[in-house]
Amino acid sequence: MALACGHTPDHSTIAAFVSSVDKEIETLFTKVLLICEEEDLLGGTHFSLDGLKLSSNASKEWSGTFSDLKKKKEALERKLKEAIREHRSSDKEEKDKSDSDEVKREKRIKRLKKKADRIEKFLSNNEPKIGSRGKEIQSNVTDNESAKLTSSHGVLQGYNANAIVDEKNQIVLHASAFGKGEDGTLMEPMLDGAKENLEAIGWKAPLKDRKISADTGYYSVKNLEVCKQREVDAYVPDPQFRKRDVRFSDAGRHRRSVDKRHIRYKSKKRWFRANDFHLDDCTGKLICPAGQALYVKNRNFQTADGYKAIAYQAPKTACRDCPLRSQCLRNPNTVSRQVHVFYGKRPGSLTDEMKQKIDMPEGSRTYSKRLGIVEPVFGNIRACKRMDRFTLRGRIKVNIQWMLYCLVHNIEKIINFGKSYSIAAV
Ligand code: SF4
Repeated sequence: MALACGHTPDHSTIAAFVSSVDKEIETLFTKVLLICEEEDLLGGTHFSLDGLKLSSNASKEWSGTFSDLKKKKEALERKLKEAIREHRSSDKEEKDKSDSDEVKREKRIKRLKKKADRIEKFLSNNEPKIGSRGKEIQSNVTDNESAKLTSSHGVLQGYNANAIVDEKNQIVLHASAFGKGEDGTLMEPMLDGAKENLEAIGWKAPLKDRKISADTGYYSVKNLEVCKQREVDAYVPDPQFRKRDVRFSDAGRHRRSVDKRHIRYKSKKRWFRANDFHLDDCTGKLICPAGQALYVKNRNFQTADGYKAIAYQAPKTACRDCPLRSQCLRNPNTVSRQVHVFYGKRPGSLTDEMKQKIDMPEGSRTYSKRLGIVEPVFGNIRACKRMDRFTLRGRIKVNIQWMLYCLVHNIEKIINFGKSYSIAAV
């Protein structure tokens, strides 16, 4: 409205404007960051990285693997044929014919045809999406760059909007939206983006030895390697770090008795563990308690912690009628048992180093600041600026939208806390 001299442009005008600034937005973001620097708003001691999962302008009902989408298309075509048959038979029976029924049937036929054609067009113009584990992941017919994400608000179709924030005044140093839920590989683009922006405003070696904190979602070998390469002082805890912290030893006292996790925790049932399976030295096969041989599924399995293992799997036919099934498979729907036999850990493991660092009083004190640095930014954007979903489609446009909101957040900080503006206000 400010740019349009007080007019209230409609959604399509705003969408066209947002899409048109894809080249200017990064320069504009850096210029605002430069003003933050001139206004003495940047501290440069501790940066925090986090992601906000927001719905996109796409429905998760239009998601699926290519085979799911083919099935959906076939189901629509079946319904379409049925609707056409009904329509023809009603044409013949003159007595039943009423105008409103006729119009309804025609509309339904058009709708079904449109939906089936849409999936057909999508399948012929796109390739299946492959995830980080090399398997096909779900595509989306409406916005194929968005992803199905699991957030604290449930499963949504959207984008993972990331921001790296400076501690002193919660200024956003770099913002970017990604069409994937896992944060395990996002440290690299986020650190590089922040470095580029800070260099553009005149900082030398902007990330070297700076404290960078991120939550357990970012804990991965890949991210820790990136932190080491960029020579940052990273604080990224593993998901079990609270269990090792004595201050959280009685954290479970607040759990309600109806808490499912609590019930599961209380369970005395013991299932077969990896050491209940034995390795046959003659054949080299892993033998289960029922005497069945498991086959090697992956000889080079590696966990996010850097542990190496051989992954074995029991044949489906062996587990199907096994009398020991209830002692072996926790979930009755699991088809067959998998066992990982660990044999080593990479020397000088980054993950071990990080665990030790986080467990030290200094490490946990530094990490505890993360919440107060980055979460208020997301709270401001989501609750005060009402950015609770992306309204545009495609990663480029969504990214611009996210950067614009972060940019407005920074402008607000300049007005509220910038030294020239504070003096003017006085
Ligand atoms: S469920 Fe499968 S792996 Fe487990 S004991 Fe039975 S056959 Fe062996």
